[in-house]
Amino acid sequence: MNEKTFPLSKKDLEDLIRRYPTPFYLYDEGGIRENARALNRAFGVFPGFLEHFAVKALPNPFILKILASEGFGADCSSYAELLLADMAGIRGEKIMFSSNETPAEEYGAARDLGAVINLDDFTHIEYLERHGGIPRLISCRYNPGPLKSGNRIIGNPQEAKYGFTRDQILRAYPLLSEKGARRFGLHTMVASNELSLDYHIETARMLFKLAVEIKEKTGVALEFINLGGGVGIPYKIEDRALDFQDLAKGIDALYRSIIVPGGLGSLGIRIEWGRAITGPYGWLVSTAIHVKHIYREYIGLDSCMADLMRPALYGAYHHITVAGKENAPHAKTYDVVGSLCENNDKFAIQRSLPRIEPGDIVIIHDGGAHGRAMGFNYNGKLRCGELLLRTDGSVVRIRRPETVEDYFATLDTGALKNFQEKL
Ligand SMILES: *Cc1c(COP(=O)(O)O)cnc(C)c1O
Repeated sequence: MNEKTFPLSKKDLEDLIRRYPTPFYLYDEGGIRENARALNRAFGVFPGFLEHFAVKALPNPFILKILASEGFGADCSSYAELLLADMAGIRGEKIMFSSNETPAEEYGAARDLGAVINLDDFTHIEYLERHGGIPRLISCRYNPGPLKSGNRIIGNPQEAKYGFTRDQILRAYPLLSEKGARRFGLHTMVASNELSLDYHIETARMLFKLAVEIKEKTGVALEFINLGGGVGIPYKIEDRALDFQDLAKGIDALYRSIIVPGGLGSLGIRIEWGRAITGPYGWLVSTAIHVKHIYREYIGLDSCMADLMRPALYGAYHHITVAGKENAPHAKTYDVVGSLCENNDKFAIQRSLPRIEPGDIVIIHDGGAHGRAMGFNYNGKLRCGELLLRTDGSVVRIRRPETVEDYFATLDTGALKNFQEKL
């Protein structure tokens, strides 16, 4: 069991809403910092430990600055994400560039920032060589294919578009050495939102054995292994959070039994978690604006799937509470929906909840990762803003809501005035 809490009282939340109307995301700096420190404590046993926070999970430079101050780096996969890392003062080898189907200009931008380039494909060795050259430090992403069982979200590695095959990985390092690389990393990312301790430990075992094999077969001693992201969070009340300490201990045992005897004793450990860092410390706060009774009971919110897509995209569960009604009996069954002209714009389907009236504040939990970031503007929907609850109790707005001017910004309205509709 895990508890679903919210960091403000109903009164403080109402005051906040008077300043910043709903919908908005609220993030809790204190929660994020404590969590970051727990991770660093647990994984501090490994040489050169570094968490590259997956920027895509919460691409806001205010959050990245907080994480940077806890020692984190960044994991980027696009030009804009590289700029976000830079904006937050995360530079050089603290940036891991784990992209795929990467355009040459983005490799160029990563190189300019001194980021660690993590290649997604064997053919990119030659591609990168043609576009700027092979850097001294380089990493490769491994796809174990049939050697690793699948995970619900990413699916079977064999069907995943990412990474090098086993055979390609073994050929990659000698080829990269030939082309001038001198420092090497190995990466994988085979899971998403995975709460099983064993699954993550087995991923480490697979990579550790591969690192030793690479050394034996090619003579290349890796400098680091990047275990990727994919650590889950307990979205459901009955889920259990993964204990960082237990995970670090499990991986450490393998480090001692595989890496140390394999002669790779100074191998660095890196990860690129997103969800597990910020996920539980963000909430989408909305107001119930309509209650509709047809064949089912519907609660219409002032937010929609433009603000949070996970339920519509993956059928994902997000816990919902109503401010001031945390302990009220769950007397009703509702579909909690947004305003998009898409029938899958539902935050919850047939959810047992307290009776909700128009004006009630509805809090959607665990929106701190892959929440607002995934939003889009379909149907002319404007994405909400983001607020940060500081550790001193103050609240700062770290992103304003979108306006129609933002929505129209990509249109050339000047040309429209002179546009001749008849030719
Ligand atoms: C999405 C992603 C991550 C972060 O995943 P989480 O599930 O948020 O931990 C890390 N690395 C890569 C390459 C990714 O695509």
